[in-house]
Amino acid sequence: MIVVLKQKTPDEKRAQLIEWLEGQGLKVHISEGEYQTVLGLVGNTSHVDMDLIASLGIVDSVKRVTDPFKCCNRKFHPDDTIVEVGDVRIGHGHFVMIAGPCSVETEEQIVAVAKAVKKSGAQMLRGGAFKPRTSPYDFQGLKAEGIELLKIARAETGLPIVTEVMGVRDLPLFEDVDVVQIGARNMQNFDLLREVGRLKKPVLLKRGLANTLKELLMSAEYIMAGGNEQVILCERGIRTFDDYTRNTLDLAAVPMLRELTHLPIIVDPSHATGIARLVPPMAMSAAACGSDGLIIEVHNDPMHALCDGAQSLTPEEYDVLADKVRRIREVAVQ
Ligand code: PEP
Ligand code: MN
Repeated sequence: MIVVLKQKTPDEKRAQLIEWLEGQGLKVHISEGEYQTVLGLVGNTSHVDMDLIASLGIVDSVKRVTDPFKCCNRKFHPDDTIVEVGDVRIGHGHFVMIAGPCSVETEEQIVAVAKAVKKSGAQMLRGGAFKPRTSPYDFQGLKAEGIELLKIARAETGLPIVTEVMGVRDLPLFEDVDVVQIGARNMQNFDLLREVGRLKKPVLLKRGLANTLKELLMSAEYIMAGGNEQVILCERGIRTFDDYTRNTLDLAAVPMLRELTHLPIIVDPSHATGIARLVPPMAMSAAACGSDGLIIEVHNDPMHALCDGAQSLTPEEYDVLADKVRRIREVAVQ
């Protein structure tokens, strides 16, 4: 249920109403917009007397929200959420460029890529330390050592670091990581979602390989219901019948999610296509359709990458692309 308050409602009247609602066992999310304050009521609202609330002098309107996702619902929170990572802002017109290798391999590699992508304008460094590989015989990531190497690259460049957590057990290693990524394969690992919901740091939540947008939003809901509202959604391609590309990039997800949720939405054209030469056109399309950022795999030696070399751009290719993305945003985004 949402309760829209009248403009200039006195603070004490608002507090009284919230206390009364909380007294009925509801959680109240307050969204203070430029023009209106919206109270989002989460919990069992079946016994709440809508007419009584609507009759209060400070209340403009009351509506039932039938969507199963509440905290991430735009109806609860009409204004875009802006996620902040140090000085970097994501959402509501703030576009983020995240780049780096699929996996952290060596100090030389991660530092070299970090320096290169920073020069091209990237604001955050990605790099997997824990890798979800289809085959148990493939490189599984450097794990704790990989996170240490990311920290070295951060110290050298100032770029905040984004890296994937695969299990609850590993979370203590992520204390000093700037953005914790939940990968596609873990989008519905509800224990993990609940745990990252207790963190006080942003979470990058990737869409599962075969998940609907509603399921993606319900996963965001798990994180937010735990108290962590700093969630960034990521469209990274889904499994369809075509196999020329690794996945099918669902770009319509961006404007659709924009309507449904206030959370920032970024796009990963690397995992979506699996083919480096397809990454620039899809990245440009993602910038044009109104996404809030791009996460792109870049490797200094893609031919010898331990993971996802085929979809990795060289730093030179990334530099050219980053410039094109900037130019597209100038014309595509008002
Ligand atoms: C990744 O970003 O390294 C990754 C494994 O992505 P996804 O979970 O989208 O496959
Ligand atoms: Mn990868």
